[in-house]
Amino acid sequence: MAFRDITGHRHLLDLIVRATVRGTLPPSLIFAGPEGVGKRMAAVSLAQIMNCTALEKTGGKDACGECAACKRIGRGVHADVLMLEPGETGIIKIDQVRDAIERAAYRPFEGRRRVVIVDDAESLNGDAQNALLKTLEEPPPASTFVLVTARPDMLLPTVLSRCQRLRFGRLAPAEVADILMRNHEYAEGDAYAAASLSDGSIGRALEGGTDEFVDARDAAASLLESVATSSDPGRRLSGAKVLTGSAGGGSDREELARRLCALSSIIRDLGALLSRADQRCLANQDLRPLLDRLQKSFDPDRVLRAFSAVDRALAALERNASPKIVADWLAFQI
Ligand SMILES: [Zn+2]
Repeated sequence: MAFRDITGHRHLLDLIVRATVRGTLPPSLIFAGPEGVGKRMAAVSLAQIMNCTALEKTGGKDACGECAACKRIGRGVHADVLMLEPGETGIIKIDQVRDAIERAAYRPFEGRRRVVIVDDAESLNGDAQNALLKTLEEPPPASTFVLVTARPDMLLPTVLSRCQRLRFGRLAPAEVADILMRNHEYAEGDAYAAASLSDGSIGRALEGGTDEFVDARDAAASLLESVATSSDPGRRLSGAKVLTGSAGGGSDREELARRLCALSSIIRDLGALLSRADQRCLANQDLRPLLDRLQKSFDPDRVLRAFSAVDRALAALERNASPKIVADWLAFQI
C-alpha cells in the first residue's frame, strides 16, 4: 500500500516521504504509537518507496504500488526487505536478529535499499536488543532499520538513543470508520459503531464483534433519547434497564462497560457540536439526526455533567460495583 493510500497520520507520512526522497531519513528508526493504527503498514510503504522502480509515475513523491518491486514488497517476498516478527513463542529470537544483521551487511540484491522491519519490537529480549545495538548505531550503507512498537518503554535506553523515534497518534474515529468501510467491507452504521468504540485503533475495532458494537451504541442512543426531554423517574429507570441488558450475570459487566463507552462517545459528540467543532471530528457522524435532536435538550453544562457521570460510572464498574446499581444511578445523572 502506497503512502497516499494510508489513512491518517498525514503530516508524519509527508515528512517521512520528503526525507526519504531527499535522502535525509535517518537509517535507524522507531515507529512508535498505539496498536493497530497503521505503523507496520507505513514501514512496508517506506520499503516500497525506497525500492520502487517507477517513482517517476508519482513525480518521485510516493511508491507507484504497481511495479514488480512494490508488489513483491507488498506480498512480503522481496529479497531486500526483511520482516522480523515474534513467532508462536511471542518473542523475537536472537538468531532471527543475527541473521537479519548478516543479510543487511550485503549490498541490496534486487532493489536500491535493504530494509529490515522489526514488528512488535518490544518482543526482542535484552540479548536480542543488545545484538542490534552496533548495527543501529551504524547501519551498513544502503540499509534501513525500522523498529515498530506500541511499547517503546520496553526497549533498552541504548536502543532508543540510537534511533530516531517517529510517533504515530491514534486515528480519528472517522478515519477508523473510513478504513473499516474501504478495506474491511463494513456497512456504514457498523463501521461508525465500531469506530466510535475503537479508541482510534483499527486493531481494536476489528477485535470486537460488529453486533456488540452496534448493540452498545443502540442502547446508549436509546437511553439518551428517553431521558433527553423527560425527568420522569419511570422513564429513567427503564432507560437504565436498557443499559444493563437482559439478565444479571457476569458478562453484564462487560456489556455495560461497552455501552457506557458508547454513551461517552455520543455525549462527547454532543459537546463537539455545541462548540461548533468540525463535522469530521464527530465519532458518530452517521447518527447526525439523533445528535441534532439531542442537542436541543443538552446545553454545555448538562453535557459536561453527563460526561463526568459516565466517567464515574465506568470507574465504579471497574471497582466491582453492581452493574444494576451503576446503571440506575447513572440514569438519574444524565
Ligand atoms: Zn513501484
